[in-house]
This record gives sequence, structure tokens and C-alpha cells, in this order.
Amino acid sequence: MNRFENKVVVITGGNSGIGLATAIRLKAEGAKVVITGRDPVTLNAAASEHGFVAVQADVGKLPEIDRMYAEIAAKVGQFDVLFANAGIYKGAPLAETTEALFDELTDINLKGLFFTVQRALPHLRDGGNIVLNSSTVNTKGWPGIAIYSATKAAVRSLARSFSAELLPRKIRVNAVSPGATFTPIFGRLGLSEAELNATAEGLLKMVPAGRFATAEDIAAGVAYLASDDAAYVIGAELTIDGGLAQI
Ligand code: NAP
Repeated sequence: MNRFENKVVVITGGNSGIGLATAIRLKAEGAKVVITGRDPVTLNAAASEHGFVAVQADVGKLPEIDRMYAEIAAKVGQFDVLFANAGIYKGAPLAETTEALFDELTDINLKGLFFTVQRALPHLRDGGNIVLNSSTVNTKGWPGIAIYSATKAAVRSLARSFSAELLPRKIRVNAVSPGATFTPIFGRLGLSEAELNATAEGLLKMVPAGRFATAEDIAAGVAYLASDDAAYVIGAELTIDGGLAQI
């Protein structure tokens, strides 16, 4: 399949996990891919291994988002697809949640995503499309991740509001909602290997599919939403969670 021939795609957080798998998938389908991320080491390694264009930026800071798009414009000009994927996963019980944790999660997952889309608008071609990375937790109450879940519910909502606003430009906006997906995100929690294994074991029992998602499972869904195969899909959510939130 060459659904992205002559298309330029921008993926925030394209240096790891779901973003990286999606960058590889869309490039394999013909796209010119720009990846962004904070860590220059993994960013440049991914870019040189796979032939992506790399732009380093922290989406939690508005001036960096503006610089990111200035650099993208200088390197590739306009683009056709934006996958607003960059995000962090952190949590704490309600009683122990600090203002700093609240701000960090909302600054990156909600404010960062909002302005990633807003500031993309002058650079995104009419008829293009945007995929937002939400999460299957947007429909469930899980202990210890209230703010993370709230940011992802907000992201799901933004797919609807952005769609409504961008209709005149024929820009489709949709959300992908992954379930538990095997990526480096869990290694960033600061848990010991034993704690991580115990958490994974407990979680796995709840997944009807009997396995965690791979980043490639999610990339396949993003590729669908971003392609013309999804031309009639607007403001929707594609849940890819092995049945976790459904059964
Ligand atoms: P990951 O491997 O940790 O990747 C996260 C990506 O986001 C990295 O490329 C990271 O770049 C980037 N990022 C984080 N904060 C950033 C910031 N302030 N500015 C720029 N880039 C930033 O995790 P992942 O699982 O692929 O997560 C990708 C998205 O999927 C997230 O939005 C996450 O919430 C969502 N998601 C994941 C799961 C799951 O189970 N894995 C489930 C549902 C939803 P650096 O490494 O350079 O910081």
C-alpha cells in the first residue's frame, strides 16, 4: 500500500513507542516523515536509522512549539498530516497529587496538544488531516491516574471540536485511543522491574485479547485514520485496546 505517496506527515513524539512505530509505518507507505521529540539523542538516532526529518522541541512550552513549526516549515514546507501524539503517563492517588504533577500532565498532554494543533494550522494543507492520541482510559475510572485520564478525555473531546471548526478547510480530525501498549512509557515511571512486572501481570488479566498492544497495532489504526480510506470518518474515536474498555 502506498497511501501516503507525495504526503508530508508530522508526528510529535516520533522518537519513541507509538509515534516511532507510526513514523515507520507511514514512511513505508510512501510518506515523507518529520518526527519531533525532546530527547535529541533518540530523535537523531531514529531520524538517521529510518530517514526521517528531525526537529527537537518540547510541546509543553509554547515558544518551543512556534520554533518547531518554523523549523518544520524551513525543512519541508507545508504538510498534509499531523499526528499529535507526544504525551506523558504519570499518576498519584488523589490525596497525594501535587500541583506540580497536575501542571506537568496538563501542560504536555492537554495544553501542549491544543497548541500543537493550533499552531499547525498555517502549515497544514486544506484537505489534510489530524489524528490526536487519546487513550482508552478516557472512558474508565482507574485509581491513581485521574489527571492523566482527564487529559485524555479532553483530547477525545478536542477531536470533535477541532473537527467542527476545521470543516470549512476539509481538514478531518479524529482520535485514536490505545489500550495498554508495550512501549517505553512504562519504563519512565520510576518503578523497579519487580513492581513493573506485578503491574503488568495484574493489567494483563483485564485485557480480553490476552496480550498488550504493540506499537504497530496502534500505528495501523493511525495509518487508517490519516489515509483516504477514512475519508468519511470525522470527529470519531478509534479504540484499539484488545477489548479492555468494551468487555
Ligand atoms: P513513549 O514511548 O514514552 O513516547 C512518548 C513520546 O512523547 C516520546 O517520543 C516523547 O519524547 C514524547 N514527549 C513526551 N513529552 C513531550 C514533550 N513535552 N515534548 C515533546 N515530546 C514529548 O510512550 P507511548 O506509549 O508511545 O506514548 C505515546 C502517546 O500514546 C502518549 O500520548 C500516551 O499518552 C499515549 N498512550 C499510550 C498508551 C500506552 O499504553 N503506551 C496507552 C494509551 C495512550 P521524548 O522521549 O523525547 O521525551
